[in-house]
Amino acid sequence: MTNVDATTAEESVIAACDALLADNDPKSMSAVEFLGKQFDAGLAWVHFPEGNGGLGLPPKLQTRINARLQAAGAPSPMARNPIGYGMGAPTVVAHGSDEQKARYLRPLFTGEEIWCQLFSEPGAGSDVAGLATKAMRDGDEWVFNGQKVWTTLAHLAKWGMLVARSDPDQPKHKGLTYFVVDMEQEGVEVRPLRQMTGEAEFNEVYFTDARTPDSERLGEVGEGWRVSLTTLMNERVSIGGAVPPKGSGTIGIATKAYQESETAGPVERDELMKLWVRAEVHRLTNIRAGQNRKTGTPGPEGSVGKLESALLNQAVLSFTANLLGPQGMLYGDYDLDQPTTTMDFSTPQKAFLRSRANSIEGGTTEVMKNILGERVLGLPGDVRTDKDVSWTEVPRN
Ligand SMILES: Cc1cc2nc3c(=O)[nH]c(=O)nc-3n(C[C@H](O)[C@H](O)[C@H](O)COP(=O)(O)OP(=O)(O)OC[C@H]3O[C@@H](n4cnc5c(N)ncnc54)[C@H](O)[C@@H]3O)c2cc1C
Repeated sequence: MTNVDATTAEESVIAACDALLADNDPKSMSAVEFLGKQFDAGLAWVHFPEGNGGLGLPPKLQTRINARLQAAGAPSPMARNPIGYGMGAPTVVAHGSDEQKARYLRPLFTGEEIWCQLFSEPGAGSDVAGLATKAMRDGDEWVFNGQKVWTTLAHLAKWGMLVARSDPDQPKHKGLTYFVVDMEQEGVEVRPLRQMTGEAEFNEVYFTDARTPDSERLGEVGEGWRVSLTTLMNERVSIGGAVPPKGSGTIGIATKAYQESETAGPVERDELMKLWVRAEVHRLTNIRAGQNRKTGTPGPEGSVGKLESALLNQAVLSFTANLLGPQGMLYGDYDLDQPTTTMDFSTPQKAFLRSRANSIEGGTTEVMKNILGERVLGLPGDVRTDKDVSWTEVPRN
């Protein structure tokens, strides 16, 4: 795309935002209604095809659209349906049939149907391709048995992205298939798992003869790993690739705590400045990564963002907790709650506790470093002795 074309595309999406807002005031209609109109205008994911919530334009324009609409009070689809918006939709659009795109994308975007990600298992987290949940073909349907764990928002989900083992005799990456599963059916049991914040944002999920029609498979049988990579790459950008306004997000929490502190001196000021600069470098790096992305599918730059965002959040929020002194240990209500979002940083204490999970969720910091070492720096690969061996022959706990 030339510069002139790029300017025209940008002007046209801004004009489309203004037209949407002129006819629909987000402050005087329901979130579902407004987001439905945004989807129909092709402003949900601007790089998706027309008719699927997009306009077939470069993904970087979405940042402009979101800023314009949110300044007018529009709801955030990411806050309402983080797994669906950030990970489910890109996977459906890349690997789904026309019927699946037409069925899933609009209610996903409006938040009428919440999605969850059924990848991790008690014996398969970083090594997710080693998973054991079974998928057996039965006529036009598939039958699932097994256990998933750490399933964020499964307690609210209508649909789950399930990766299961359809052929145990193949090596681990080759025997997997990817499905969209109805979480509200009999045979799916969701049990809360409590985190250190006191909340149960995530769950254990048990499948006992749960079913899905073959038409709800995403990708070919045995291609589940390839489809999963689309979800995982988008997950990293979803977690670590945000471009908040300068000085906002967790660094905004730290700055506020510093300004309100009666004891902070030059040492704290120096530390805050270093963190502020780091947060700004991270923000600008994410902007650059987003602008270089020609298509919707992110590459290893998503892992750079994910790695740094986890380390940065933890450093910024540890600094904030220290700044608060004894007050930093006062948490208040510790009742078991099953939240409707993963993005509640209502107090610095809660944000601090929640940030400890940042270096685990969406792939651990060590795994991100492996990806960067191998895919960006060209270092020798991790040791993989089970790569070409049948999954049934790989020792497991
Ligand atoms: C808040 C939160 C939300 C989550 N939500 C979901 C969800 O919605 N759906 C879902 O499917 N999963 C979810 N997860 C699970 C998450 O993806 C896994 O916890 C993560 O991938 C790590 O897996 P594990 O916990 O089994 O740890 P393990 O894989 O057992 O790792 C244990 C330790 O070994 C290290 N390690 C493992 N392999 C290597 C290696 N090759 N090289 C170097 N070090 C290594 C790890 O870095 C870690 O320190 C969530 C996790 C958290 C914390």
